[in-house]
Amino acid sequence: MDKNINAQTKRYKPSKYNFFFQAEDGSHLAYNAISGGFAKIDNEKFPVIYKTLQAEDIMSDTVLSQEVWNKLVEGGFIIESEIDEIDLLKVKNRMERFNANQSLSLTILPTFACNFQCIYCYEVKRNESMDWDLQTRLVKLVEGGGDILRFLHITWMGGEPLLGLRTIEFLSSKFLDICAKKGIKYSAGMITNGYLLTSEIFEMLSSKLLVKNFQITIDGPREVHDVRRPLKNGKGSFSKILSNLRNIAHSLPADVEMIIRVNLDKTNVLTGMELIDILFEEGLSSKISLMPARVDAATPICRDVSESCISSSTFYKNYQLKFINKSINKGFRFKIYPRLVGSSCMADRINAYVIAPDGYLYKCWNEVGIETESIGFIDDRGKIKHNNKMVKWLAYDPFEIIKCIRCKIFPLCGGGCPYKRKQRIAEICVSWKYNLKEMLNLFYRCQQKGGDKNEVPK
Ligand code: SF4
Ligand code: SF4
Repeated sequence: MDKNINAQTKRYKPSKYNFFFQAEDGSHLAYNAISGGFAKIDNEKFPVIYKTLQAEDIMSDTVLSQEVWNKLVEGGFIIESEIDEIDLLKVKNRMERFNANQSLSLTILPTFACNFQCIYCYEVKRNESMDWDLQTRLVKLVEGGGDILRFLHITWMGGEPLLGLRTIEFLSSKFLDICAKKGIKYSAGMITNGYLLTSEIFEMLSSKLLVKNFQITIDGPREVHDVRRPLKNGKGSFSKILSNLRNIAHSLPADVEMIIRVNLDKTNVLTGMELIDILFEEGLSSKISLMPARVDAATPICRDVSESCISSSTFYKNYQLKFINKSINKGFRFKIYPRLVGSSCMADRINAYVIAPDGYLYKCWNEVGIETESIGFIDDRGKIKHNNKMVKWLAYDPFEIIKCIRCKIFPLCGGGCPYKRKQRIAEICVSWKYNLKEMLNLFYRCQQKGGDKNEVPK
């Protein structure tokens, strides 16, 4: 592209989603939240580039060299004037929500039962498991996806999903058969408390049933974790989970992702970080990823833990950064690079369902087991019968929220959690709202050190 030729025919403007900041070493950095472009700008050139990108119309600017101009256009920092970035985001949102990629995403609870009694658990606790009839209907549902289905993603969740291992085995093998016959790409993950995840079960799940992503929660060192996540009989669960992890992680296949989630609130936010040292000393830093998560009293069932919750602002500005910094220094992996999202969650996507063991379908994990919030069921021919609650989820439109469409974080957030929006919960903004620059700084530091383990922007 020749800037001078284009300047006569096209008009340009800066993207609304440019971020500029200075790294700890004094370098000037730029990031664009739609393209994901990331640039280090020469300190000498920075004033003129920055000034140019503040102008509303940069068509006639001739100060920038061709090379710099091209890079800024390529990185999405300068765009054609006629582009409406909100329209671009809308298209991405609609495509993701209304299934332009022909996918079906199912979160399946083989059972409501759980062997733990976590202090902050929001889930309905019933000893109910998926019966044979529902499993058959589920298989028919996937079979009936017809020729248009190209991707099937399953998340196994509970209760504790491993208490329903037979159901997982049966359904997975049926789904894998259907996908193989119809050329559908299959992927699966599991959210488990890790207590029953022995190396034999892990081996069967990961190599035979193609579960390639595991999330296990450990809330800190033994004395902290065991108080927060005891077994139902009150005994501790830490030692068994750590021993399972040790057995699995040292020979973790390269295509399996093992994430340790650490739920943090006021009572364990400092002690919880000791887990990083424990896992490091176990030699697991190059094998697993860590995920510090803020305990959030979002559902009516868990509102009684609200006193101990940390505000989003304090958590993301302070504790999350400390946790990630410490982990990266110990060699753990993190996905710290912010990326464009189409929609904020599966709850507002047309072909995504949470399937409870009693047959009710939901859109949001937080509502599972609350039958009045169910959006329908699967009939005996394997067809989904929706009610009007489904329409409400799909009619939700973050582009109607003025505060969000004016927010520079919107491309990375998509308007926040639709459930919280529905419940009118105030703390809805994503972590990037509070720590985008700090996280990009961290990312830059990792790159400077030659760290290739933390995600590199394209
Ligand atoms: S709507 Fe919110 S709470 Fe529900 S699954 Fe989505 S992100 Fe989670
Ligand atoms: S929810 Fe918060 S961070 Fe997300 S777009 Fe809206 S205002 Fe921005």
